[in-house]
Amino acid sequence: MQQRCLDLRRAGKQISFVPTMGYLHEGHLSLLRAGKERGDVLVLSLFVNPTQFAPNEDLDAYPRDLERDLELAASVGVDLVYTPLPQSVYPDGYATYVNVERLTETLCGASRPDHFRGVTTVVCKLLNIVQPNRAFFGQKDFQQLAVIQQMVHDLNMPVEIVGLPIVREDDGLAMSSRNVNLSAEQRQQALSLSQSIDMAQKMVVAGESDSRVILAALQRLIEDQPEARIDYLQICHQTTLAEQEQVDADSVLLLAVFVGTTRLIDNSFLVS
Ligand code: AMP
Repeated sequence: MQQRCLDLRRAGKQISFVPTMGYLHEGHLSLLRAGKERGDVLVLSLFVNPTQFAPNEDLDAYPRDLERDLELAASVGVDLVYTPLPQSVYPDGYATYVNVERLTETLCGASRPDHFRGVTTVVCKLLNIVQPNRAFFGQKDFQQLAVIQQMVHDLNMPVEIVGLPIVREDDGLAMSSRNVNLSAEQRQQALSLSQSIDMAQKMVVAGESDSRVILAALQRLIEDQPEARIDYLQICHQTTLAEQEQVDADSVLLLAVFVGTTRLIDNSFLVS
C-alpha cells in the first residue's frame, strides 16, 4: 500500500484518505464522498484496531462485514481499500506508540485510559503508509478529531485533516457501527442522546447559560431510560475541551452513555 501510494504521489495525484473500523454506514459514506470530491485517488482503510480497545471492551463484539463494506466502497468510487491484519500492523516485537497529552486526559480518555494512545498510534501509522494529501474524519468523534489535529500539528505531519458533520438517522440517532448491537427497546432509549442535545439547544436559545442547570435537566431525561447509564455529560470549550460553567459561543455539549452494554457518544455545538 505504501509503495502504491508513493507511486501515485510521484505521479502528481492528490490522495484522499478515510480511515475507518468498517461496518460502513452513511456517516462513513459522507466522508468518502467528500474525499472523492477533493482528490484524484480515494483510499479507504478498514481496520478494527485492537490497541484502542481495553481488554474488557467490545473488540470481539465489534460488527464486521467485509463483503458489504467492499460493495458500499465501490458504490461511492473508492479506488483503493486497505484491510491489514492485526499482526501486520502490530507484528511481534512492536514497541512504538504515539501519545497526545492533555486533550486525551478528559471525557473518553478519562473513561477509556489507553484508548487515544491506540487511536493516535494507528492513525499515525496509516497516514505514514497512505501518505494522503487530506484525511477525512467525522465530528461524531469530536475529541478524537481534536486529538488527531493536535498530533498532526505537533509532529509536523504533511496532511490536511478535514472534519465533517455528524450524520444522523431520521429520528436523530447519530449513526454508528455499534447501533446494530442495540435491541429494539434499547434503540428507542438511545434516542435520549439526541433528544438531550435538542433540549440543551432549546434551553440555550431560551436564555439559559448555566451549564449545571442544563446538564441537570439532561441527566434527568437520560436517566429516565431504564437501560441508560451516563458515562459523561459535559459542556466544554470546543478547542481546549476544558469544562465550562457558562455556555458561550465556543461551547460544545459532549456525552457518552451506555445503553445496555453498548457505549454511544454524541455531541453538538450549543450556539450556532
Ligand atoms: P469508525 O469506523 O467508527 O472508527 O469511524 C470512522 C470515521 O467515521 C471517524 O472519523 C468517525 O468520526 C466517522 N464517523 C462515524 N460515525 C459518523 C457519523 N454518524 N457521522 C459522521 N462521521 C462519522
